[in-house]
This record gives sequence, structure tokens and C-alpha cells, in this order.
Amino acid sequence: TFQDQELSAAELERTFIAIKPDGVQRGLIAEIIARFERKGYKLVAIKLVHPTKDFAEKHYDDLKARPFFNGLTDFLSSGPVVAMVWEGQGVIKYGRKMIGATAPLASEPGTIRGDFAIAVGRNIIHGSDGPETAKDEIALWFKPEELLTYKKETDKWLYE
Ligand code: UDP
Ligand code: MG
Repeated sequence: TFQDQELSAAELERTFIAIKPDGVQRGLIAEIIARFERKGYKLVAIKLVHPTKDFAEKHYDDLKARPFFNGLTDFLSSGPVVAMVWEGQGVIKYGRKMIGATAPLASEPGTIRGDFAIAVGRNIIHGSDGPETAKDEIALWFKPEELLTYKKETDKWLYE
């Protein structure tokens, strides 16, 4: 019923989002969280972490053959990162849309990178690019007990 509907599998889709060291240093934590929150997505895990170089290499493992890999992993491990898991229908794909294209000068205005960044190596935010990477990245950054499942009063105003 309207009152006590169960969360559907679609509503329980999860993605890993990280505010990179440049986003933290530039004071964009609240701005970025606000965008996901206002959209209607649900925060199910969050922590501030300073990743080691080794951990950054694990996170970007699929890019290890790329020329920018060393600079990228040095950068990700250069300071605190806000690691988060966001939940909701379509959050993996739509989250990427909210983030914008990898190169900020190619990101549309209105996207996070489009509004706040210029250089590809300083593009302030990471988001999982598909269901498999979301699963792997959530498992890399969080212990299962750090992920919370809960209902919000607004769920019934967001989903039919
Ligand atoms: N990156 C870079 N130079 C490039 C391509 C990517 O420094 O030519 C960085 C950029 O910060 C990007 C990250 O590497 O966010 C991971 O690359 P990916 O292609 O996965 O882009 P994303 O999924 O973050 O949009
Ligand atoms: Mg990527």
C-alpha cells in the first residue's frame, strides 16, 4: 500500500561516488552531496578517508596501462577523499549524468564537472561506470556493515 510499500529492487540500486582530493580542498563537499540528496537519492554510506597510493592503484586497477595512471593514483592518494554509496532507481547511470563527461571542458553546464572543474586530472568527483564496477568499488571502499538499509518518509513521494 501507499503507507508501507516495500523498496523495489530498482530503488535499491547502489553506486560508489567519491569526492576526490581537489573537491574536498575546494570546499565542494556540501555542494556535491546536496545535488544527489535533492535529486532524491539516498545516502547509505559515507566516510572521509585518505587513501594510500596502493589503495588508489587498486581503485583504478583497470587503468593501470594508461600513461596517466601514476599521476592519477598519486593525486587520488594526495589527501582526504569523501567516499560514499548512494542508492535509488537508476543511480549508477543517472549519477554519471549528474557528474558529466570525464574531461570537464566537454561536460555540459549543469553537471558537477561542467559547473566546477576545468582539467581532466582535477575533475573533483568519481562515479562507478556500471553495475559490476559499482559492486566492486563498494566492496573495495566499504565493509558490508558500513552500508545501511533504511526507509525514509520521502520514499513514498519519490517512487510510485
Ligand atoms: N584521467 C586523466 N587523463 C585522461 C583520462 C582520465 O587524468 O586522459 C583521469 C580523470 O581524472 C578521470 C580518471 O582518470 O576521472 C578515471 O578515468 P575514467 O576514464 O575512468 O573517467 P571517469 O570514469 O572518471 O569519467
Ligand atoms: Mg571511470
